[in-house]
Amino acid sequence: MPELPEVETVVTELNAVTKGAKITSSETLTQKIRIPVPPELDLSLKNKVILHVTRRAKYILIHLDGDKILVIHLGMSGRIHIHEADKKTATQKHDHLILHLSNGKDVFFNDPRRFGLIELIDEEKINSHRLFSHLGPEPLSRNFSPSFLAGALKSRKGPVKVALMDQCLVVGVGNIYASEALFEAGIHPETSAQKLTIQKIEKLTAAIKAVLKSAIKAGGSTLKDYRKTNGDLGYFQHKFAVYDRAGKACRGCVCDIAKTGGVQKITQGGRSTFYCPRKQL
Ligand SMILES: [Zn+2]
Repeated sequence: MPELPEVETVVTELNAVTKGAKITSSETLTQKIRIPVPPELDLSLKNKVILHVTRRAKYILIHLDGDKILVIHLGMSGRIHIHEADKKTATQKHDHLILHLSNGKDVFFNDPRRFGLIELIDEEKINSHRLFSHLGPEPLSRNFSPSFLAGALKSRKGPVKVALMDQCLVVGVGNIYASEALFEAGIHPETSAQKLTIQKIEKLTAAIKAVLKSAIKAGGSTLKDYRKTNGDLGYFQHKFAVYDRAGKACRGCVCDIAKTGGVQKITQGGRSTFYCPRKQL
């Protein structure tokens, strides 16, 4: 499932290719995804200029003239492909939307598992929209500070790993990066969120930002479904310290695998968590 760094990578690539271009036409190939694609989307998009592309949580926001935002969520398996229109790229199975741009590019949204989402929202209503109104701050923003996190965790009795993945607390810290950040900060994932000391919270805040920035720099992580818009792979998965490394040595750690048994794997909130039993106490 694409997480924040993967979506950020897609947004950067979309900006580079689509900013300033006009949508000369679009093709909604199916309306049947998790939330049905708005009817008459093609009519609404026709001749709209793409002003710029941003990200909020894991949503791609394509800002259009006329104060509209085309919102795309990649869901579990969604991908954005960008092709030259003159290559007559045939549509693939599971392509749901194609944008034909005035600069000769075609932008494809493909989603085999159909958990993705396409919405057209008025710019001024975006923050109060049901998709966005409950969301916590962006982890890479100044608002996400140790004092903010301390306040937000104070009332949380559950494990810190589960709290971090709650999008109402902070957005975009999914399963991979929650494990990686807790490792970086030396915090056991089962620690009660409200019992973390301010020193640990400071470390954790810094670790979340560092891990996400480093993953963005690497173009995201390629697991099962994620590809960059040109089909290339992100490569942050080669840098995971603990994620998906059960029984192996933790990267960049001084623990002795013969004594620890390597990275431990547990299940929390139905998701796998990976941690080092020596560094994360
Ligand atoms: Zn270790």
